[in-house]
Amino acid sequence: MTNTLRVSNQPGTAHHAPSRRAPSATAQQTPTPRAPTWLGALRALLNRAAQPITAAAVAITIAAATPQHARADGPAEYPYSVVATTGMVADIVKQVVGDKANVQALMGQGVDPHLYKPTRGDVAAILQADVVFYSGLMLEGRMTDTFVKAARRGKPVYPVTELVDESFLLEPKGFAGHWDPHVWMDVQAWSRCVQAVAVAVAQFDPSHAEHYQANAAAYRRQLETLDAYAKRAIASIPQEQRVLVTAHDAFNYFARAYNIQVLGIQGISTESEAGLADIRKLVDFIVQTKVKAVFVESSVSDKNVKALIEGAKHSEHNVTIGGELFSDAMGPADSYEGTYIGMIDHNVTTITRALGGEAPPQGMQGKLKANHP
Ligand SMILES: [Zn+2]
Repeated sequence: MTNTLRVSNQPGTAHHAPSRRAPSATAQQTPTPRAPTWLGALRALLNRAAQPITAAAVAITIAAATPQHARADGPAEYPYSVVATTGMVADIVKQVVGDKANVQALMGQGVDPHLYKPTRGDVAAILQADVVFYSGLMLEGRMTDTFVKAARRGKPVYPVTELVDESFLLEPKGFAGHWDPHVWMDVQAWSRCVQAVAVAVAQFDPSHAEHYQANAAAYRRQLETLDAYAKRAIASIPQEQRVLVTAHDAFNYFARAYNIQVLGIQGISTESEAGLADIRKLVDFIVQTKVKAVFVESSVSDKNVKALIEGAKHSEHNVTIGGELFSDAMGPADSYEGTYIGMIDHNVTTITRALGGEAPPQGMQGKLKANHP
């Protein structure tokens, strides 16, 4: 398994992006500052011969300028701090680090990562964290500068999707040479990212490499169960109804993994507007194939989906909203839907039930909200 991972061996550098990938926060060309800055400060202080130098002044200078953690020896203290961008990334990192680190997610429920601009607080959190994880493949397109800045300072910054083998990545038509960033929609592909996280944190904290590996292995076994549930549930939808129409193109990996046709109104990123022509084409398709339900997404406006439903009505075909899916953000924090497993369970169960397949109303392990459709 590990031979398919291409995690940078250089702590403090982001993973090298191959040329076909969109430019991302890869500051790998920037040498990690090897000479500690405090040494320079100390030298400057010692060189000020005209002034009296006290031991206390030297100590203060070192304390102020010494990097908080000497990475070669791992974290200075536990729990160390990790900042992650989306909830999906934060969740897999939490599973891997266990009690060794505190993991903070910058983007909560309903937040669209394609459009998200980091706040000053986010930038500060990233620069203060011991390790930073983001999803990558340009998902967080407006945060790139911040990742570069952090990597240039020698901070370990890892794009989880770019750590997996390219054979797991999709480059759908019309994406003009960009990889599809929505890798978490294929549970097996996301499971690869879990393993990549384990390798990455072990670089930062080698003394707990085995702990991280064991946590990752246990979590990946849970993901195998989830993947099997998704395959079984989606396969129970009658073949001619196995069509997923959603607000934006987040489900290509889901389509590949679970054998369902997928159509998104908006393109790969919510930054591109859906044109009227796109909507009309989709209405024709829905009417012709008698699609029963279309889906809204928690992190994308539902106005296009509503336009679809109206359009179909004009052609005397009734299509309903099959439910709300979690595409680029998870459900509420501290809820089952606010975990990666809960998010996928919710999506699979919602899609399956709305399109005439068989799935328990409360999902794979009876944990979905009781009022689930
Ligand atoms: Zn998206």
